[in-house]
Amino acid sequence: MPQSPTMQTIKKTEPKLLELKNRLTEINDIEAAASLLYWDQATYMPPGGAAARGRQLATLQQISHSKFIDPVIGQLLEDLRPYEESLPYDSDEASLIRITQRKYETAVRVPAEFMAKLSMHRTESYAVWAAARPANDFPAVLPYLEKTLDLSRELANFFPDYEHIADPLIDFADYGMKASFLRSLFADLRKELVPIVEAITSQTPTDDRCLHQHYPEEPQLAFTLKIIEQLGYDFQRGRQDKTHHPFMTNFSIGDVRITTRVYEHDLGQALFSTIHEMGHALYEQGINPRYEGTPLAGGTSSGVHESQSRLWENLVGRSLGFWKFFYPQLQAFFPKQLSNVSLDTFHRAINKVGKSLIRTDADEVTYNLHVMIRFDLELQMLEGSLEVRDLPEAWNERYRSDLGIVPENDSDGVLQDVHWYTGQIGGMFQGYTLGNLMSAQFFEAALKAYPEILMKIEQGQFSTLHNWLTQNIYQHGSKYTAAELIRDVTGDALRIEPFIRYIRQKYGQLYTL
Ligand code: ZN
Repeated sequence: MPQSPTMQTIKKTEPKLLELKNRLTEINDIEAAASLLYWDQATYMPPGGAAARGRQLATLQQISHSKFIDPVIGQLLEDLRPYEESLPYDSDEASLIRITQRKYETAVRVPAEFMAKLSMHRTESYAVWAAARPANDFPAVLPYLEKTLDLSRELANFFPDYEHIADPLIDFADYGMKASFLRSLFADLRKELVPIVEAITSQTPTDDRCLHQHYPEEPQLAFTLKIIEQLGYDFQRGRQDKTHHPFMTNFSIGDVRITTRVYEHDLGQALFSTIHEMGHALYEQGINPRYEGTPLAGGTSSGVHESQSRLWENLVGRSLGFWKFFYPQLQAFFPKQLSNVSLDTFHRAINKVGKSLIRTDADEVTYNLHVMIRFDLELQMLEGSLEVRDLPEAWNERYRSDLGIVPENDSDGVLQDVHWYTGQIGGMFQGYTLGNLMSAQFFEAALKAYPEILMKIEQGQFSTLHNWLTQNIYQHGSKYTAAELIRDVTGDALRIEPFIRYIRQKYGQLYTL
């Protein structure tokens, strides 16, 4: 049991804690300004602004990094350690000191000059990729990708006590995770998934033509706004704009924005990417306002973040109960397209399973196989067993062996995801599969606590689920690690079984399994 702090300790500590908080808020403000510049770049900035914007972002990132690794912060943290140890582990102040210490120890190992070099490379590499993808031009990105691999190794080697060179990079996004653990987790998952994929794809493909009629943009956007408002997204503290690659960003707990894209011949795009990004946003909007401006204000890991977007997108947004409520409203928005399409046909269409090329369009059953391909290729490149110039061939070979199809060009192959072209190879993809697994595990826990959630979804009532998530996950921000959170919320370690149970149950009704 920690000793409660005496009055004397508090008096000595208070000014130091205040100074730490002030410095962290200042850094947070610079980071928020950078995020706003990025949001603008991805939504409204005219193309002519690109070069200067890249430089401006790099400048802000260098300033915030230098301020964070200032030895004064290190000294404050050291002085505050006895105070932290005198407080309960889960108190706000102990958590603030603990999490800041952890982030500080990571950040100080990386020199500011390296961060600036990385940031400049990231902007250049992204610009080359953005032109190379539509042009199907892998050779154009090759030298940039080779440099990205060098920089990723350099970054990992600032943390030389690793077991696998990818571990430090994985740890940035999903603290506490290692390549060896993920390899065995993914192998177990693959063993369960492959027979299900084979059983489904050997049956007659689902007819999803109803989704590919002409759906004008304006009513699509109006309908997505209607849905997320009902799900609990707070428009007083957020907004939705259009972009090429949807994302969520936030400048404070009071300003959490999402972006979407609309395809007039693919109804699912705007609908599900909006619900997905809203899931990320509900997490950030639900964080305890007392954490504003500190390292506690933000989702705790990429896996936990993705669990929230996938929970709302898939476990809620692609369920029959959800559409029992919303489908008549969707039909009213698009009477010409949908009045003769039954709820059952629509529900089957939005859950169509098939072997496909594009990860972001993949269904719930095959999605994790796409992630595993990328995860394995990242490890091979970092280990040096795969040369960057051989990447397209290795990619296509894995699609042939894992999904039985080969992309006709690199645009739909190795060039499809932005991740490796934004300055890092390693740690970029595991969060998606971790998120899928956690989403099912968290949802099971929510249903155990409140079995009526499923019935409420059918009635268009989402507050029981939303409140449970806020109480158990959202409000804590980064206070707990992913492992601590899963243990506290579900009483168990991370497991594949809840996800497999969910897939078997749902797809057993849609297909013959
Ligand atoms: Zn996401």
